[in-house]
Amino acid sequence: MERIVIIGSGLAGYNVAKELRKLDKSAALAIITADGGEFYSKPMLSNALGTGKTPQTLPLNSATQMAEQLAAEVRVRTRVTAIEPEHHRVRLGDETLEYSKLVLAIGAAQIRLPLEGGAAGEVLSVNSLDDYARFRTTLDGKKRIAIIGAGLIGCEFANDLATSGREVEVIDIAGQPLPRLLPPEGGELLRDRLAALGVTWHLGTSASGIERSGAGLRVALADGIAIDAEIVLSAVGLKPKLELAQAAGIEVNRGIRVNRFLETSAPDVHALGDCAEVEGLVLPFVMPIMHAARALAATLAGTRTALSYPAMPVLVKTPACPTIVSPPANDAAGEWKIEKSEDGVKALFVDATGKLLGFSLNGKATAERAKLAQQVPPVLA
Ligand SMILES: Cc1cc2nc3c(=O)[nH]c(=O)nc-3n(C[C@H](O)[C@H](O)[C@H](O)COP(=O)(O)OP(=O)(O)OC[C@H]3O[C@@H](n4cnc5c(N)ncnc54)[C@H](O)[C@@H]3O)c2cc1C
Repeated sequence: MERIVIIGSGLAGYNVAKELRKLDKSAALAIITADGGEFYSKPMLSNALGTGKTPQTLPLNSATQMAEQLAAEVRVRTRVTAIEPEHHRVRLGDETLEYSKLVLAIGAAQIRLPLEGGAAGEVLSVNSLDDYARFRTTLDGKKRIAIIGAGLIGCEFANDLATSGREVEVIDIAGQPLPRLLPPEGGELLRDRLAALGVTWHLGTSASGIERSGAGLRVALADGIAIDAEIVLSAVGLKPKLELAQAAGIEVNRGIRVNRFLETSAPDVHALGDCAEVEGLVLPFVMPIMHAARALAATLAGTRTALSYPAMPVLVKTPACPTIVSPPANDAAGEWKIEKSEDGVKALFVDATGKLLGFSLNGKATAERAKLAQQVPPVLA
């Protein structure tokens, strides 16, 4: 049967569908999703307090509206339990659904630290609208939050929660916030600006266990300190969801492996978004998804189209210290050249010939974003 099946209704799944409909109005399309199928911008979860949004007002469209807009069947709260590439069909429990083309847009799971203690199970994390709704319900009336992880998501939540008047403590094994994205000088400015907002840092140490303590929680740190909090939010990173593909014999590595045509090792099965590893790159951000969605939609509509990525700077939503990063490739050889001013840090990663390979900008230096973005090499030429 001629039917395109997309698994997942996140930015990856819905954007492929939207792009496809620009090119092909009539192909039969089914979107199967384990969640409620609302169309929402996930990046808005980590600044929703500051922008006055709630889990109810974040969705731009309901699943029913999306089904209408996309002329698609959208099946919500439905989990794909297996893929059978040899039969061109997926299993939804006892039911089977045939596809002519399958798109895996199943996202990533939050990594959970192996924490000791009786309250380790009470740690929250946020990687979906459902998670965020749970978080906001728990947050009601609470004042003290401990965040494990000072990466992009941890810092954004720290900024949002501190601005809303909460007491925030952030723990990270690294000695600075955004350790993978910022050189130390940029990390310092971000750390100090968030500290000025009231954030307490516990850097260079890790959370080892969590116990109940009265009505709240007590987080034990490796350096012997204990933090009292009412909520513990874990933001230590994401891991592409691989199990479904792996069980079907589809090649995986750090993510579900795909080539530039977003093709997996199984015929007619594609992958994109947080679950995918494109030519060795796992890039869990919005811009790569938008590029991949356009290329894949063209392929699905009949014009096999290779994906390329331009430079894609990421804006970190920490208004206390505006931050933009365009990290150099993992294997790039070069060094950081830092220019510090009173209210900004401009860091340029250059090779031996002076060629710009990446940059990070904090504070006032973010004004240079557009100019620098034109100079860095494309992420996937
Ligand atoms: C708090 C937060 C802030 C962020 N801020 C930024 C930012 O500022 N800038 C930026 O570029 N990026 C940001 N990101 C990253 C960005 O939001 C993600 O890269 C993007 O949303 C991932 O979309 P996705 O569709 O690949 O995955 P997801 O949104 O995780 O969607 C996966 C979908 O697959 C479904 N699914 C999974 N398994 C199954 C199954 N077996 N059967 C059926 N359905 C299934 C799920 O229900 C879901 O609908 C942020 C992420 C978070 C969590």
